[in-house]
Amino acid sequence: MHADIVVLPGDGIGPEVTAAAVQVLLAVGKRYGHGFRFSEHLIGGAAIDATGEALPAATLEAARRADAVLLGAVGGPKWSDPRAPVRPEQGLLAIRAALGLFANLRPVAPHPAAFGASPIKPHLLNGVDLVVVRELTGGVYFGRRERSDDRASDLCEYSVGEIERVVRRACELARARRGRLTSVDKANVLETSRLWREVAARVVRDEYPDVELEHQLVDSMAMHLLAKPREYDVIVTENMFGDILTDEASMLAGSLGLLPSASLGEGRVGLYEPIHGSAPDIAGRGIANPYAAILSAALLLRHSLGLDAEAACVEAAVAGVLEAGVFTADLAAEGQAVSTREATLAVIDRLQHDCVVVELRD
Ligand code: NAD
Repeated sequence: MHADIVVLPGDGIGPEVTAAAVQVLLAVGKRYGHGFRFSEHLIGGAAIDATGEALPAATLEAARRADAVLLGAVGGPKWSDPRAPVRPEQGLLAIRAALGLFANLRPVAPHPAAFGASPIKPHLLNGVDLVVVRELTGGVYFGRRERSDDRASDLCEYSVGEIERVVRRACELARARRGRLTSVDKANVLETSRLWREVAARVVRDEYPDVELEHQLVDSMAMHLLAKPREYDVIVTENMFGDILTDEASMLAGSLGLLPSASLGEGRVGLYEPIHGSAPDIAGRGIANPYAAILSAALLLRHSLGLDAEAACVEAAVAGVLEAGVFTADLAAEGQAVSTREATLAVIDRLQHDCVVVELRD
């Protein structure tokens, strides 16, 4: 197949980790006979420096025409003045909104080799394989804000349509996994949550009767996520609860450098990025962990290009190198760390030699 992929390296370690992900995609393309075309565009601080805007029109135009977008990270001390009229993260929010990306997927499947880096006890992490689906374009983050001298308010609003579409996405995902969906809300207190619960129950009952649904209050979910993470398959929730729960879930994996994400809308176009930021403290040194960006490329293969076998192959290759102890500095014992480049080449080597699915197709 042929696919146009827009690459937005962004700032800090963004260019280093997206370059790694592109190298892996090129290797996948070569191995399976796919023609991936890459075009690089500006976003974030790099875009502000070059054009004065965090999301230049040319970048958005290219993203709209592409099959998928691969992003590094945006931001850094150079652009961190909160009073600045243009800030790097505006580029990220704007591209998500412009592409209608309402569902943010964050898979968390801690690898045994990285258990030691997590603050959670290993016996609780064993077998954990969950995905949090966070609603990304509604709720309190997008509601009307008001401020007077001694009061402030943020309006939380959800429509039936906004809830239906993200619950459907989560149901589709649950169907392709273990068939279990946990819908998280605060229905004992919030009206938006009562609507959320009603709509989630109806969508599952009428359209996905094969999916097993449970409702969970967000406060108890915060506890269960650490106490019994193995019990969850797909978790779907609204924007702010999802923001908090996904950061909590990231602690299960040990390092930010291991966690990918996908932001999806109605169609196939999606935006794929590691969950970590631009890590200015290690930028430009060639030591960043590229695995989260590479795993984001695997999500791109699966969700935007429909290449499930290729995606699984990349995931197996990353699992293989972790198993073999190929760790960058965020995971390695003193003196044992490999560089970004060495870690990337190790993944490509696995892809070329170990991937059974690839061999079967040849
Ligand atoms: P961060 O994720 O950039 O870094 C947190 C810590 O984790 C740092 O010590 C960093 O070195 C380490 N780290 C992160 N990714 C790593 C990797 N791949 N390999 C090895 N170590 C890694 O978060 P921060 O320091 O809070 O933010 C730095 C900048 O990134 C800020 O400007 C922030 O606004 C921005 N940011 C951007 C995004 C995004 O683009 N989606 C997300 C979060 C933060």
